[in-house]
Amino acid sequence: MIITPQKRWFLYSLILIFLLIGVPVWAGEEGVVKGSVVNIRQGPGTTYKVVTQTKAGQVFSILEKSGSWLKIRLHNGQDGWINKDYLEVNTVQKQVTVNGTNINVRKGPGTGYAAIGKVQSGLLLSVYEEKNDWYRVNVPGLGQAWIANWLTTQTTQNNTPTNNTTPAGNTIPASDTTPMQGTITITGSTVNIRQKNTLDAPVVTKVNAGDRLSVLSKQGDWYQVRLADGSTGWIADWLAIPDNGTTPSRSDQESEVLIAPIAEGKTFKIIDTGARPILVLEGWNSTEYKISTRQETNSIVLELQGPSERNYEGKLTRLGINNIKIYPQADKAIIEMAFAYPITQSVNYIGNLKVTRILVGTAENKQLSGKVIVLDPGHASVQSGGWLDPGALGKTTGLKEKDVNLSIVFKLKTLLEADGARVVLTHAGQTYLSLAERAQVANNISANIFVSIHSNFSDGNNISGHSTYYYAPSSDPVLGSQRTSRQKLATLVQREMVKTGGRNDIGVLQANFAVLRETTVPSILVETAFLSDKTEESLLGSDAYRQKLAEGIYNGIKAYFQ
Ligand SMILES: [Zn+2]
Repeated sequence: MIITPQKRWFLYSLILIFLLIGVPVWAGEEGVVKGSVVNIRQGPGTTYKVVTQTKAGQVFSILEKSGSWLKIRLHNGQDGWINKDYLEVNTVQKQVTVNGTNINVRKGPGTGYAAIGKVQSGLLLSVYEEKNDWYRVNVPGLGQAWIANWLTTQTTQNNTPTNNTTPAGNTIPASDTTPMQGTITITGSTVNIRQKNTLDAPVVTKVNAGDRLSVLSKQGDWYQVRLADGSTGWIADWLAIPDNGTTPSRSDQESEVLIAPIAEGKTFKIIDTGARPILVLEGWNSTEYKISTRQETNSIVLELQGPSERNYEGKLTRLGINNIKIYPQADKAIIEMAFAYPITQSVNYIGNLKVTRILVGTAENKQLSGKVIVLDPGHASVQSGGWLDPGALGKTTGLKEKDVNLSIVFKLKTLLEADGARVVLTHAGQTYLSLAERAQVANNISANIFVSIHSNFSDGNNISGHSTYYYAPSSDPVLGSQRTSRQKLATLVQREMVKTGGRNDIGVLQANFAVLRETTVPSILVETAFLSDKTEESLLGSDAYRQKLAEGIYNGIKAYFQ
């Protein structure tokens, strides 16, 4: 085509008009899933492989159409195809953010309609329909609802709509580029770094799981990173986690990014603090829920009392939450959240408000992370009359068993804690607890294991060496059911203690000791060596040898958890 001066002038005008009106407002389409369990396929037809499944209420942005099939952007950033019969397609008129706290969303367009939930400031909503002064929107966790337009602000459209119009659950407002300082660690294996912050941008290089990169900024779901050669690139934020100390340069105010009413007067919320998320339960008192952490899957599970019909599945990649699932189970509501990183949690209950805040932290991914171990230094009980039970006394020097036990326990505690375990002692020098109450310490906190440390004594001659006891009679339903774990723990600790202690291997024995009988968690009693044996008494008196024993027991515990 020959560009005549007239045509050139026309082109210039077009460009000028574009510059004046700015980037055209994007109006994409979102589909809300209708079927209960729906297949998502690799291509537009039932002959294509099923890549995943979805269910009612899930929201996806629609990328293109082919016959009766729709191409959608999946929550993991990849694309898939779904039959149009299973998707209620809504044209996104615009996107708005909620202004103000506790804003009612209603069944219909007017205050005369029943409120079906509340939303909070900052929540990003796609508007499907406008009626009078009301918007029909999809509220994550709630479904379709109407919100008054005067309680929202229109969000500026971003020029990469398919990437920040994140579907169900990921309701973080699209923001402009936020400068950041710090580093991120790659969590995906072989991850693309792209020229721009879109999934179709050219790949400039690849990085691997565990690689650490400096962050320059954050835009939507993307980090801008500095590469080894000094150039920059973009990486999707669900493939990396920010390292400690990585902070966006914006003000760190808390914003509620997910609000899920569970039942009348009971709500579950996720708060973005700019660092790790906070989970909030409103309306339950502290006896009406159970919070558990599953280290193997980096997940937190909340069991909330009271019937609920809430069903929801989504994710919040920016907060490192790969999956959020809410579903009823008997007379409870269950909330499962899988995180992209090893987690810790601490609970703060505000009784008069019936509000529980669960602070999610990053656990270092160590071998014993999340394990709760109760150590019991043998003896040192305050007896009636006020004297302290010293345990056995060394035949030669009168070395007190309680001091040897305590010293080994402290060394063992240091080793276990360095490996991520949470260690609880039954006492740290003297105690009023009975033997059954020492066992109770472990039972009360559902410890993973209970380990009692003793030193042996025999009036007969020539007995020396290491031994480990457990108790698991089949007549006892609790102890009998733990037979395998109790025996395994005893066997591995004995094996490793013999290696580092180097004395005679007496072996693994069974005995009806009170602490072993009364513990409802797997337990052992370790007899390190003999205070009645001259050589061993001398060894037990030495700090270096106590350290060796502690290391052996520690190695055994580690082996038990592997
Ligand atoms: Zn003892």
